[in-house]
Amino acid sequence: MTENPHGGPTEDIYDQVISAPEPVEVDEELAMKFGLLIEDAILRGRPYQDEKCGNCLYYLDTDKDIAYCWHPKLRIPVGFEWWCQWWEEIAD
Ligand code: SF4
Repeated sequence: MTENPHGGPTEDIYDQVISAPEPVEVDEELAMKFGLLIEDAILRGRPYQDEKCGNCLYYLDTDKDIAYCWHPKLRIPVGFEWWCQWWEEIAD
């Protein structure tokens, strides 16, 4: 601690300990929740043969690289090139 020009204490910048951000309890809970969801869906970050989120019935906006999957067991944002076991063909 040093004194500022007006006589009050000022925290010296070199006295401050800047710590790296760390996950908190809610992050661990969500990681667990989504981990189970990913396992249940067999969700993958790459296509399975010709099947991928980008050509799945449940992919809400095929103009986007990341979009909402409205499958009732998921309801999460997914990537265009991802895939899961609940892939469904878009009817003509
Ligand atoms: S159901 Fe599966 S394959 Fe289809 S958009 Fe959702 S995550 Fe992707």
